[in-house]
Amino acid sequence: MLELNEEKGELKTFFVDVILPLAISKTYTYRVPQSLNEQVAVGKRVVVQFGKSRIYTAIIYHISENPPKLYDAKYVIDVLDESPVVNQHQLKLWEWISAYYMCHLGEVMQAALPSALKLASETRVVLLKDAVYDKKDFNDKEFLIIDALEIQPELKVSDIVKLLGQKSVFRLLKSLFDKGVIHISEEVIERYKPKQVAYITLHSFYTDADNRKALFDVLERSPKQLDILLAYLKLSRSSPYVAKKEILEESGSGNGPLKALIDKEIFVVENRVVSRLKEGDYEHLKEFTLSEEQEQTLGNIKALFEEKDVVLLHGITSSGKTQVYIRLIEECIESGRQVLYLLPEIALTTQIIERLREYFGSKIGIYHSRLGDNERAEVWTKVLNNEYNVVLGARSAVFLPFTGLGLIVVDEEHESSYKQYDPAPRYHARDTAIYAGRLHEAKVLLGSATPSLESYFNSKTGKYGFAELRQRYGESNLPAIKVVSIAEETSKKTIQSHFTSVLIDGIKEALEKKEQVILFQNRRGYTPLLICKTCGYIPQCIHCDVSLTYHKSTGKLHCHYCGYKQDTVPVCPACGSTHIEQKGFGTEKIEDDLQFIFPEARIARMDLDTTRSKNSFQRILNDFEERRIDVLVGTQIVAKGLDFDHVTLIGIINADSLLNYPDFRAFERSFQLLSQVGGRAGRRGKPGTVIIQAYSTNHRVIQQVIEHDYEDLFRVEIAERKSFRYPPLYRMIRIDVKHKDSHALSAVANRLGQELKKALGERVLGPEDPLVGRIRNFFIKTLYIKVERDGIAISKVKEFLRGLLLNFEADKHNKGTLIQVDVDPY
Ligand code: ADP
Ligand code: ZN
Ligand code: ZN
Repeated sequence: MLELNEEKGELKTFFVDVILPLAISKTYTYRVPQSLNEQVAVGKRVVVQFGKSRIYTAIIYHISENPPKLYDAKYVIDVLDESPVVNQHQLKLWEWISAYYMCHLGEVMQAALPSALKLASETRVVLLKDAVYDKKDFNDKEFLIIDALEIQPELKVSDIVKLLGQKSVFRLLKSLFDKGVIHISEEVIERYKPKQVAYITLHSFYTDADNRKALFDVLERSPKQLDILLAYLKLSRSSPYVAKKEILEESGSGNGPLKALIDKEIFVVENRVVSRLKEGDYEHLKEFTLSEEQEQTLGNIKALFEEKDVVLLHGITSSGKTQVYIRLIEECIESGRQVLYLLPEIALTTQIIERLREYFGSKIGIYHSRLGDNERAEVWTKVLNNEYNVVLGARSAVFLPFTGLGLIVVDEEHESSYKQYDPAPRYHARDTAIYAGRLHEAKVLLGSATPSLESYFNSKTGKYGFAELRQRYGESNLPAIKVVSIAEETSKKTIQSHFTSVLIDGIKEALEKKEQVILFQNRRGYTPLLICKTCGYIPQCIHCDVSLTYHKSTGKLHCHYCGYKQDTVPVCPACGSTHIEQKGFGTEKIEDDLQFIFPEARIARMDLDTTRSKNSFQRILNDFEERRIDVLVGTQIVAKGLDFDHVTLIGIINADSLLNYPDFRAFERSFQLLSQVGGRAGRRGKPGTVIIQAYSTNHRVIQQVIEHDYEDLFRVEIAERKSFRYPPLYRMIRIDVKHKDSHALSAVANRLGQELKKALGERVLGPEDPLVGRIRNFFIKTLYIKVERDGIAISKVKEFLRGLLLNFEADKHNKGTLIQVDVDPY
């Protein structure tokens, strides 16, 4: 058939290059069966086999009539989409990320596509628990699948492929899924079961005023039912359909009286499909006017956008940066273009979401990693169909399929969590957003109270425009900052546990006034170090070169790098001594000791350990917001974009631990953190206080924080970075070489270092031992390449490095070596 057609010249044979969601350096070419000729298009998903038997969802990258030269192309098994799920702008962005951050396109695809849009051999299929079906309705193949599932609770896609002896099983699975018989874990098929919610309306009879009045008279005698009716009338102002749940909440009544109203046909229930994404009805959008300064800054930004694509807005905490964004967003929407609003993951709380919904209603989409797979895929599809004007999201939202971005806001642009560290792509969402802005010809606004040196530097050199907000909005004043010497209080013996008398008095006063307190400590766990007083032995992780942290909640020693846990050591395994001392202190101990001093206070802790489960983060925040917690003890997490009305005191338990962190950005980070934490105090009128406990009370960074002197920080830091050749004055690439054998590692790393130095000379540093020399049984050596900004082009360096690493990995002497490249490490 095939040849016949080709002879006649009726049908062409196409080949598609596809991106597979794998860390491989190339795209692969597949042959398109002629039956699918009509369906292939760039950006659609196809099902292909890769390797011996694995099946993947891949993205069509390129279509041609040229067969691959080096291998026989396998056939595309199926085309999954009716229209592309990835557009040209995205493919260009993926290419840029892959080139700039030196990773594979497949890795970018992996990070970019929500997992519900990916499908692989390992995807599992199960029979729905309460599925009702008649086997007569199935065709032979469907019948086989169901038969197998009745015996076996779960099948992998690859099992079904074997069972049927055919590769194209996704359509069959989709059909069974649509019939409501099976469930596909990780929900890979592109249709979701829409979520149904019970909605209540008033029977049309009562839209008549007289009838309604009569109804009120009747219900006089059933006050609970009357409450429900009133709740309905209140909630139905924006839409006659009100969710049953909302009515019950609003009226505070139980199900009984509501059921009575339904039985009497006063209310009508209807199950309606709703989006999984919670969207209230926000028809009465909020109004506000900008302050004089805000108005002026807005004008400046707009004028700057005439000439620059990127503007940095340096606005102190509570100056109203968000209000300025809102104005720019409104204008962008009016011009018919989309807005991407990026925030650090952790700051994406209901607080900011609700606040923006007050202005943009349901036109706003939300995208972050705490959403389920299905929800992420739903947002993806809605963005693709241009159903949102604004998307508010964390780092990965930069990958969404925007069709016409007009504005990108990167709030808290200095946040290090914008950089993905592991796995590749090790991209920085701010910088990626700037490139995406260029593709869309969109404007990019970076906002921060404590800008990154990179962005501030770029604004000083004229690469970015620069705008400022110097006043807090309204009555709110910047908090007073007190620095307390830990050394002095220790010698005077006025310190209790880790709390100076100044801090204790402050907490006491706040508690008496029923105000709230946040305490910051950057280590979690109870005590970071156990040490034998007799011989100096310190318990270490068996997989990593780090000491173990004691966690009281589990009673065990934990490794913060690999998650390894073991029992504590009451007796020193080295010398048998029982003099084991606990050194240092983490959030757990702060919480414990504080409770001892203030037995009545309601104290909670927010760190990685207490926020691991899906909703716990939001729950702690709600409890704090609704004042069921008096004192919140936390790590970095508490510093980020949270806005509480009743917090008047912020305590930094130990500023030295921040300042002494061995990283060239430690001072910059300390300044940012201390200023941001301080910004949480005394919002909305109430004066706030920040108490910084430190040994080095005269440290210049602490002085800069007290004086809110970012300029000075910038000036001193830039000079330092210049003399030690660090970013932003130099570009930096970090190369981690890993091996399970430490001798082999040294040899390989030295060889790599020599090769690099041959070509790049002084620009190469190392190999050196990183802070932690072994993680998860891999020994690590690190090399840095520092490249000046005005000499050799960074793209040339990367090209050279790419070639070198490719050869290096192919060389059998380097077997067992893992090499990780991090461009612009952060
Ligand atoms: P920032 O983002 O700079 O920290 P916000 O935008 O959160 O500051 O503003 C701080 C507080 O002041 C918020 O509660 C905000 O609603 C309020 N605010 C700022 N500007 C205005 C304005 N023009 N009108 C009304 N409220 C404002
Ligand atoms: Zn010992
Ligand atoms: Zn470990």
